[in-house]
Amino acid sequence: MTAPVISVSAALPPVARKNILRYLGMGRAEEDPAVAALIDACLPEFALAARCQACYMELPVFTKDRVIDFGAMRVESASLAKNLEGCQKAILFAATLGTQIDLQRRRAAVTSPARALVLDAIGSAAIEAFCDQLCSEWEEKYPDLRFRPRFSPGYGDLPLEFQKKLLEVLDSKRKAGIVLSDALLMIPQKSVSAIVGMGHTGCTMRFHDCSACSKKDCAFRL
Ligand code: SF4
Repeated sequence: MTAPVISVSAALPPVARKNILRYLGMGRAEEDPAVAALIDACLPEFALAARCQACYMELPVFTKDRVIDFGAMRVESASLAKNLEGCQKAILFAATLGTQIDLQRRRAAVTSPARALVLDAIGSAAIEAFCDQLCSEWEEKYPDLRFRPRFSPGYGDLPLEFQKKLLEVLDSKRKAGIVLSDALLMIPQKSVSAIVGMGHTGCTMRFHDCSACSKKDCAFRL
């Protein structure tokens, strides 16, 4: 029997300002007053347009060499096999902020490219925040298990094409309104699909952000 796919709708979580600045390429710079004013002006309208939706399923994980068998599907990837080493199960998910923010950004691009850039950076930071929130909820559900950093198609040697299978198994079109273009881009644009391994060893940081983590010798680093 295939595991059920669960749909989730949520309010937009708080979006970390430092992440918005990071996506604007200003992560280390002093915040510019004009940029700060633009972020403050864009945030409320972005929040009105964003619709957080996700779908996920829990599947068993069997790894043998570089082949990962989720029961419902198999994939070959040495990088993902390393990420899931020692995991008994994994959550496969897709999350999005909806189509309205894509339209909002396209409309803004016509009148103010700067506003469109800021809306784009807010969107990137916001989908990250939504994924972090989903992972935190799953971690609360399984307090005895440790989670691995999210692993998306296209990371390491996991082919981007695997996204097609992943979204198909998740029935993401019906369950979260996410489809894949012929060029393998997710629509809506601010969407993420990923695999989160669960085992008795794993990441010890709250948000699993390897790029910001000082544990250089961590076995699970992405
Ligand atoms: S490097 Fe840090 S954030 Fe990444 S998996 Fe290891 S402990 Fe977690």
